[in-house]
Amino acid sequence: MSEILLEVKDLKTYFPINNGFFSRRKDFVKAVDGISFNLRKGETLGIVGESGCGKSTTGRSILKLIEPTSGEIYFDGRDILTLKKNEMRKLRKQMQIVFQDPFASLNPRLRIASILDEALATHNIVRNGTERKEKVLEILEMVGLNASHADRYPHEFSGGQRQRIGIARAIAVNPSLIIADEPVSALDVSIQAQILNLFQKLQKQLGLTYIFIAHDLSVVKHISDRIGVMYLGRMVEFADKKQLFAEPLHPYTKALMSSVPVPDPEMIKKERIILKGDIPNPANPPQGCTFHPRCFACMDICKTKKPRNIEAKPGQFVACHLYDPEILQG
Ligand code: SF4
Repeated sequence: MSEILLEVKDLKTYFPINNGFFSRRKDFVKAVDGISFNLRKGETLGIVGESGCGKSTTGRSILKLIEPTSGEIYFDGRDILTLKKNEMRKLRKQMQIVFQDPFASLNPRLRIASILDEALATHNIVRNGTERKEKVLEILEMVGLNASHADRYPHEFSGGQRQRIGIARAIAVNPSLIIADEPVSALDVSIQAQILNLFQKLQKQLGLTYIFIAHDLSVVKHISDRIGVMYLGRMVEFADKKQLFAEPLHPYTKALMSSVPVPDPEMIKKERIILKGDIPNPANPPQGCTFHPRCFACMDICKTKKPRNIEAKPGQFVACHLYDPEILQG
């Protein structure tokens, strides 16, 4: 698990805001504001945070479904931001996405067999029509469906089954990386567990690498090797899952963990931390540390100075002045 599949350096994705027809000032929403991390082959990185924190934009920027503003993204050693369109098209089949609502991304007029057949044909995975039929059945079985499902339309499936189809379409083109964007948040808890188990089974079977995006920490905990916690476009903490759950450092991570509703023996002793207020408007973020209006540990310096990213413990990175030796020594 040591070879790097994906390396993201100082990724920024800004969206311009319309200030009015006559305004010359250009403002931006900094949806992703300088994120860096790497992803090892075969691992799962969980990205967690409240809605609007930039986690989905991060996923879509990595796939170039949204054009990043700046930064570097190396996939298997190639900087994908400098690739030409046709080179990116070839690479794209290695990087797939599974959406929260697979129904919205499935053509309602096509039977499931045709949806999968189309994916295999478009990417030249299997050229021969008869072999493609066999491959479609093989993929359906891999995701827990069977031949009887092949001739049905998307609307004939339950939410969990549709997500299996979304996963089937992603794995059909033999990807190395799958970005799963809130893939279980629309499902009942019992179905969530089945889909999470399916992701894990396929990872072992196919050697897949995942970025798993969710707002629910208990979902991310179940599946991840390492976890990144996002707040207003920044990765405020990044660590190995066990390390993060044993000793969260950033006040925001501590608050998120204290509010996990599912009973968890590792969390029983943790005191509930109630966050003040809501996530601020990303178009007008607070000065200094953007978390400071909600932070129970806020110091004066937090209101004016943006925290650096510090490796507070081996492999555990945190963007908070509380762990910055330069700030602490004054
Ligand atoms: Fe809280 Fe200050 Fe740390 Fe921000 S930098 S999380 S306000 S202690």
